[in-house]
Amino acid sequence: MSDFSLSIIGWYRQNKRDLPWRNTKDPYLIWLSEIILQQTRVEQGTSYYLKFKENYPEVADLANATELDVLNNWQGLGYYSRARNLHHSAKHIHEVLNGEFPSEYSEIIKLKGVGKYTAAAISSFAFNEAQAVVDGNVYRLLSRVFDIDLPIDSGKGQKYFQQLADQLIDTEDSATHNQAIMEVGSIVCSPKAPSCAVCPLNDICLGLKNNTIEQRPVKTKKIKVTSRFFHYLVFHFDNKTYIEKRSQKGIWQNLYQFPLIETSVEASEEEKTIWKDQHYESIPIRHLLSHQKIDVVFHHINKKPELIQNNWQEIKLSSIQEFPIPRIIDKYLIEHPQFF
Ligand code: SF4
Repeated sequence: MSDFSLSIIGWYRQNKRDLPWRNTKDPYLIWLSEIILQQTRVEQGTSYYLKFKENYPEVADLANATELDVLNNWQGLGYYSRARNLHHSAKHIHEVLNGEFPSEYSEIIKLKGVGKYTAAAISSFAFNEAQAVVDGNVYRLLSRVFDIDLPIDSGKGQKYFQQLADQLIDTEDSATHNQAIMEVGSIVCSPKAPSCAVCPLNDICLGLKNNTIEQRPVKTKKIKVTSRFFHYLVFHFDNKTYIEKRSQKGIWQNLYQFPLIETSVEASEEEKTIWKDQHYESIPIRHLLSHQKIDVVFHHINKKPELIQNNWQEIKLSSIQEFPIPRIIDKYLIEHPQFF
């Protein structure tokens, strides 16, 4: 075992957080936790993991659930394609693989929604296969410990970091090594103000020695952010309203929303005539995603619309929360109970 591995595993055994998915070797439950935790903080993801585990204790239970049910359970986590892929793969395991979760990295990575990191995590945690995980925490930790200035968002950089992680892994106990490297990266070597004084790697850390911690990791690409403007039409008539399903690809696919008018710039006068009869207009609420900035306004209109689109569905105003809806609408409903 390398000194690197000895140090992080020693620290991990003493300091690890007791997270519910760490007490199992069941690949299905590990997969659930890994998909839920993508782009989600541990504090938020834990309750979702426990909910999914309770509602769908076996892969067959998830496979047999309706997509509506799965999306409802996912509501609030965002990035809904993860839930759809999870459901799709559960059906695949149940129907094509006879309910047997694949037991090797090369097979696990074929599941929809599973990339290199997730396949390495599942195959090492559940089957102790020596596959090194490289997630954001690992990139940051390795770039600092070895003072690497290769950009982590370049093909060359990613290959280099993966090779380095592969060399460092403890092949006897890859599960603990992988958990440990991510835990040290997440808890000790945090993005801002890392805790170098108590870090198990501080005696070998070149970033600390060379005073380059703040410049690591290096990234090249600037993310291009698109601006979008969403206008939701909230009709009120006979305690009813209209909703529609977002069937197109992209954000919030298959979730429900109030009828939407989307503009790529601020709405024109012509577009505004559609909600000229409104009795209340919310202030714009900004919703930030990694590549999009969405300004959302809710227009409340006290009548039945004259023109009704084919994809609109008439529902009781109070029943909207029975449908899977984007987090921003859910929050709006909670914060404006006078309307719903
Ligand atoms: S010594 Fe500091 S910068 Fe280096 S790995 Fe530890 S926490 Fe990160």
